[in-house]
Amino acid sequence: MPYFLAYEQFNDLITALTALGYRCLGPQVEDGSIVFDDLSDATQLPWGMRDQQKPGYYRLQKSELNEAFAWANGPQAIKPLLFKPKESLWRVERDEKGAFTFKETLPEHKPIALIGARACDLAAMAIQDKTLLQGQYVDPHYRWHREHLLVIAVNCSYSGGNCFCVSTQTGPKATSGYDLALTEVQNGFVVEIGSDKGLSLIESLHCVEASATKTAQAEERSNHAANMQTKRMPKDNSRALRDILMNNLDHPRWQEVAERCLSCGNCTAVCPTCFCHHQTEYPTVDGNGSVHAREWDSCFTEGHSAIHGQVVRDTTEKRYKQWLTHKLGTWWDQFDTSGCVGCGRCVTWCPVGIDLTEEMAAIAGEFNTKEKTS
Ligand code: SF4
Ligand code: SF4
Repeated sequence: MPYFLAYEQFNDLITALTALGYRCLGPQVEDGSIVFDDLSDATQLPWGMRDQQKPGYYRLQKSELNEAFAWANGPQAIKPLLFKPKESLWRVERDEKGAFTFKETLPEHKPIALIGARACDLAAMAIQDKTLLQGQYVDPHYRWHREHLLVIAVNCSYSGGNCFCVSTQTGPKATSGYDLALTEVQNGFVVEIGSDKGLSLIESLHCVEASATKTAQAEERSNHAANMQTKRMPKDNSRALRDILMNNLDHPRWQEVAERCLSCGNCTAVCPTCFCHHQTEYPTVDGNGSVHAREWDSCFTEGHSAIHGQVVRDTTEKRYKQWLTHKLGTWWDQFDTSGCVGCGRCVTWCPVGIDLTEEMAAIAGEFNTKEKTS
């Protein structure tokens, strides 16, 4: 049975999380977009804000609704909290005899409680779990962050203009991966429990059970968000895209998109599943050691495909082809899933408005390649 958390109880939730030792993060308006930052009071939430998203376009506007979560998403997902843009993996120290000692540098941060992750963000986290937690090699840094994260998801009641999670079957309602899932309704939230931690948290707040009316409202909100979506990924983002892409490696569309693409890497930075990175050694100032850091990279940089001094993907066409064929195609071979969860971020934050659903549709022959948005 779901619970009901009234707006007036939201600060109690923050207080309870803080008392449990969490650093509480939640969505806030900063520099014209909605980002996750330290949250100590419900007034910091983006009340009454709505995002307008189109290819290459993101603007916030005041909405007629004075709700806290009546927007789709901002440039961040959960990725930067778990797979950090820059993280020390180990350090090396040299003692007075000149001997080197390697030391692991596991994170020492506070556990994080994240409020406001969306269904697509949780789907992306599940994909990153496959990449970084499962299989032969487990990333201890990702695992540390993952084990110290509590997720309070918020189901979407509104879809942005670039969302297509319905066609990727990853939203707009969260089905797993959360401790609590909230759906905003009149005067508060219907709360679903996803874990024992979530249950004890909500019990500590003495929430009442949600009425049938509130639960029905929550259902309507999710349906409304789903019905708003006009964008979709061809073939429901299925494995079929792999063969279509691999059978069309010489399609003229690759050259067309390369003429627009700036190879800037914005799409990979905002994508919640991209995991390309490089590693750099940073010597200490005293010369007696160094820190070995992992930093995000992008398949759109020239250096990312450099092997023995040779750049393998030396044109934008090759790099865009790598991005799309991996993301929607060979990701299936590696992880038995698509690498796309339909969040639309790469479409919104691409400075020239390249839309991967249109690129995929053009290659799949689903509509005339001239009907593109730029
Ligand atoms: S490829 Fe684009 S739409 Fe798909 S998950 Fe990444 S950022 Fe979101
Ligand atoms: S597709 Fe867009 S965001 Fe991605 S590298 Fe090209 S120009 Fe940049």
